[in-house]
Amino acid sequence: MNNGNFDELLLAAEKPSRYIGAEVNAVHKDKAEVRFLLAFPDTYEVGMSHLGLQILYSILNEIPYVAAERCFAPWPDREKQLRDGKIPLTSLESLTPLADFDVVGFSLQYELSYTNILNMLDLGGIPLARTERKEGHPLITAGGPCCFNPAPLVDFIDAFVIGEGEEVVEEITAMIREGKKKYLSRNNLIEQLAKIPGIYVPAVHGKNQVIKKRSIADLNLWAHPKKPVVPLMQTIHDRITLEIARGCTRGCRFCQAGMLWRPYRERNTSLLMEMAEKTLQATGHEEISLLSLSSGDYSCLEPLVINLMNKYHSQRVAVALPSLRVESLTAALMEEIKRTRKTSFTLAPEAGTDKMRLIINKGNTSEDLLSTVDKIFAAGWKSIKLYFMLGLPHEEQADMEGIVHLGYEALRAAKNRGQITISLSTFVPKPHTPFQWQRQISLEETHAKQDFIRQRIKNRNINVKWHDAKMSFLEGIFSRGDERIGALLETAFRKGCRFDGWSEILRFDLWQETIAESGINPEDFMREREIDERLPWDNIDCGVSRDFLLEEKQKSADQTATADCRLNDCQNCGVCDFSTIKNIFAAKEKNKTVVSSKPIPDSTTVSEKKYRLTFSKLDRAGFLSHLELSAALVRALRRSSIALAYTIGYHPHPKISFATATSVGMESRQEYLDIAAPEYLSDLDLLKGEINAALPLGIEILEIRMLSPDEKTIAETLQGFEFELHLPADIDSSRLSVIEENIEKFLAASTYSIQKSSKGKTVTKDIRPFIQNMLLDAAGKKVKFTVNYTPTGSARPTDIIAHVLKSNACESRQIRVVKTKTILAPILN
Ligand code: SF4
Repeated sequence: MNNGNFDELLLAAEKPSRYIGAEVNAVHKDKAEVRFLLAFPDTYEVGMSHLGLQILYSILNEIPYVAAERCFAPWPDREKQLRDGKIPLTSLESLTPLADFDVVGFSLQYELSYTNILNMLDLGGIPLARTERKEGHPLITAGGPCCFNPAPLVDFIDAFVIGEGEEVVEEITAMIREGKKKYLSRNNLIEQLAKIPGIYVPAVHGKNQVIKKRSIADLNLWAHPKKPVVPLMQTIHDRITLEIARGCTRGCRFCQAGMLWRPYRERNTSLLMEMAEKTLQATGHEEISLLSLSSGDYSCLEPLVINLMNKYHSQRVAVALPSLRVESLTAALMEEIKRTRKTSFTLAPEAGTDKMRLIINKGNTSEDLLSTVDKIFAAGWKSIKLYFMLGLPHEEQADMEGIVHLGYEALRAAKNRGQITISLSTFVPKPHTPFQWQRQISLEETHAKQDFIRQRIKNRNINVKWHDAKMSFLEGIFSRGDERIGALLETAFRKGCRFDGWSEILRFDLWQETIAESGINPEDFMREREIDERLPWDNIDCGVSRDFLLEEKQKSADQTATADCRLNDCQNCGVCDFSTIKNIFAAKEKNKTVVSSKPIPDSTTVSEKKYRLTFSKLDRAGFLSHLELSAALVRALRRSSIALAYTIGYHPHPKISFATATSVGMESRQEYLDIAAPEYLSDLDLLKGEINAALPLGIEILEIRMLSPDEKTIAETLQGFEFELHLPADIDSSRLSVIEENIEKFLAASTYSIQKSSKGKTVTKDIRPFIQNMLLDAAGKKVKFTVNYTPTGSARPTDIIAHVLKSNACESRQIRVVKTKTILAPILN
């Protein structure tokens, strides 16, 4: 595992598994004509939860001449390590520095990640300013919803992909391949990029040339991701995401995504079932999330959910519908969803009164909401989150009171069956929406509105949460800003701003300082815009016409609704060409009843068989925490043909138990895991190979054996461990002599008390009785020792390193800890 100081530093990182790669389904290509880095300007756990990244990774790596790799923003502790050690930021797969790729493509999902883009470029050895990049520097591209106002980032990004990326990434890589063959200069490549429809290149197009967004016509032609990468750490959305539809034509006037991603395109149910089968098999995940902007709108939702539940319920796979609209939640759907886990319920009334919901064209009423709340609690859920926005256009005091009133009414509808959470965010009038000309409320107004709601909700069964007003303020500036934002971003980055969307890291004081020094008045960006004024994003055409947006603006003032074109006539928004680009609905397929492909008998009705697995955890897998290791093993078992036995209840877990937890950074050549299965496992060697093929790099099953019915549990038979401490390669002979002396003194002592801090207290512990033997090997490379494990205690390798070897912090970090054996009591016949 010791490849230079990379791994040694990872030992000291807060969450090493963010940086180790080595995941199942990660693609490693040795040779490629085009090397494409997908860069996500947020943490690994956020980026790996984003479906778009997995889709592009899948599409790009399917192209034989392309190698796509990933990189995420390093957390501040890791950034410090990289800067202190002058180590460049690299990809996860091949540890290649960012500067060595042909193209670095940033995913712009939210504005508060902008300073992380600058930080990643800087750490990757790439000049921030596009005008300062030279021959050999990668092309820096960006895609995602924030590109619909590229102005704030035009100083840094060479090319923006406007719209959906599936087809465009193929065209970009083909162009780069050709360009490289012809030895085109970097500037020539950028000029070629500008010729691809849907790509905005500031150096070529300037401010005025209008770029029209790209859309894929039919989602059924793009069944990606085929084999999603399975994160080793717990991510925000740790599940399979099936995109059932793209786009939304409901026409909520505040919703940027609803305008940007029109028209509405559904995937066929049969293809979704096929994708579910393949991705579950490829990942071993336990939850499928059905994703779209409004999943209740999917025209075949009930048959799809019923088929998924029929097929996967017995494998303990839950189905989640994260973006259901209030009125689309039918009793039949709820019955299906609650067959496995009761996933959390969030409803988005957005506003407190029917009048306000007419203004924003939300299309539902308080009555709809309350009857849904009743249904949800009746079905057994215990809590509901209601999501509201503050500062919507035409909002009056009565609308604020409406939020409070609706909160109490929802609680009444809950009839003491659970809790209500009211979640408040500040409305940001986003580009390309009918509200793009409206003003955004100030920080002070947001605070006053939050206080108003908080002071009026005094019931402990209603929980009020609110989004940080400072972040909404910054989001407003960035999303509505012009080219002047670039200088602000660079100054704030140089002052130390990073992760502006993370409340524990946001340095709003530095932002205030930056804005004050710049002389820019933030109100320039927050203010109401004149109808005939040029907007910073007017050079981007998302397909929805300006006339439609203006008409919608007027209709909001008149409190007039606009119908959904999925179910009514076309409302002339301008997006469709009605030949290739149009609303597409799932084919009405014959509803076949699907049965489980791998039924698991109910563990209450069968007598379980127990098996003991011996496995190793080496190399980068050594950085996994016990929870991460456990999840990786369970997923590999789920991907194999084993039917595991599960606990019963709403959160069923596979019945597994480990000998002990291995700590982060410790490798092990021999660990044990007991599993229960409802049926006999036949060819154990074959099974071993099957599981190993499904495990991440570094984890390997060495043996599987069946336990006899009266055999003791693993915890009952555990007696101790053998360890090796691999000393630093450059350790000098005088230090080795000291270590040898320290070991001799330790072995000669009858007691050896050390002081440790535990739960804020200092405790004294005698570790001598737990150590049987210890020696420095003849080559002076390893210290070997055996530790007794007793129900009352044991000693840890870190105790030996710090107190017996007396290593300082620097030496400790360089010592590789390997458990070579787990000692179990012999089986008595
Ligand atoms: S052009 Fe008409 S049918 Fe197409 S998304 Fe717009 S309103 Fe709907």
